[in-house]
Amino acid sequence: MEIEKITGLEEFIAQYPVFEYRIINSQDLNFSPRVRFICENECQRYGTTWACPPAVGNLEECEARCKAYPYGFFFSSVAEVSDIMNMKDMLDTRRAHEDLTNEIGNYIKEQGYDCFILSTESCAICERCAYPDSPCRFPERMHPCLESHGVVVSEIVETNEMTYSLGGNTILWFSLILFR
Ligand code: SF4
Repeated sequence: MEIEKITGLEEFIAQYPVFEYRIINSQDLNFSPRVRFICENECQRYGTTWACPPAVGNLEECEARCKAYPYGFFFSSVAEVSDIMNMKDMLDTRRAHEDLTNEIGNYIKEQGYDCFILSTESCAICERCAYPDSPCRFPERMHPCLESHGVVVSEIVETNEMTYSLGGNTILWFSLILFR
């Protein structure tokens, strides 16, 4: 699918700091148990939000959910920090990318598409997540991260000849807006 098929998307994103983008076919995505293993064993957010495993379902369920949307708008944005080793500063830059993801997702929805969005890190909308005691408070705004669904970001980047890292004190954030 060509980006021109989504009316005005190319012009729309031109006004935002999108670094690179591709329209990808969801059937080409790989869903890796290894990514989920890292989630479970190395991420402090595992089991603490509705946006993370195990709440998002097992790997097969995640794959089926994603592949129910034939196409995806995969993009990156760049952020710069004074010190790449400062985790708080680095994570603070994520908000702008999440806002950008919502803007683009809303635009694609306005063109009549149904979307499912995977974004960065885990959900931080609420100060304290409702998980597991009550349902997610903002299911429309909550986007699980790509890794939560076993998606290997570096693989999509490589396959599509995109940039994974710019080095120095820059960060590249990635999102995938699946649509049908
Ligand atoms: S929106 Fe709130 S309740 Fe839902 S996953 Fe995010 S933090 Fe948890």
